Amino acid sequence: MYSEVFELHAELLKALSHPRRLEILRLLRDQELCVSDIYEMLDLPQANISQHLMILRDAEVLSSRKDGKQVFYSIANKKILAACDLFREVLIEQTEDAELARELRLSMQELLPLTHDPVCQMRVSPKTASFAQKHAGEMFYFCASGCKKKFAERPDAYVKK
Ligand SMILES: [Zn+2]
Repeated sequence: MYSEVFELHAELLKALSHPRRLEILRLLRDQELCVSDIYEMLDLPQANISQHLMILRDAEVLSSRKDGKQVFYSIANKKILAACDLFREVLIEQTEDAELARELRLSMQELLPLTHDPVCQMRVSPKTASFAQKHAGEMFYFCASGCKKKFAERPDAYVKK
């Protein structure tokens, strides 16, 4: 019984102990997402994502529900998020790098905003975009097929006023 306490605790932490799985937890913080959304936002092979999701579900960190052919994932217990936040606060206190501390404080929405290529309207995220450019104080992200060039020629045609 005594040792079981620590074994159980370690098992749960083991399930959380992977950068991609922590990324998935942040992503699901305020929303339920299906595998293809997670795949699209994190730009990882689908088999890889499925494996991480399975580990998190087995540890009861995530719960899943089926809707037609899609499987949707969400956080099973919000206390897990509070635990992750606490760990991040420890990291903020430990680091002497101001820029890293700033990024540790950002929400997932700020770290990984879902946005559209302003030219072709393809859904892109800063992580998956091929190109980025700052215009009028705002960051824009582009696909791989020449939209950045078109944008640079006439940005005002693509920026919503
Ligand atoms: Zn494009």
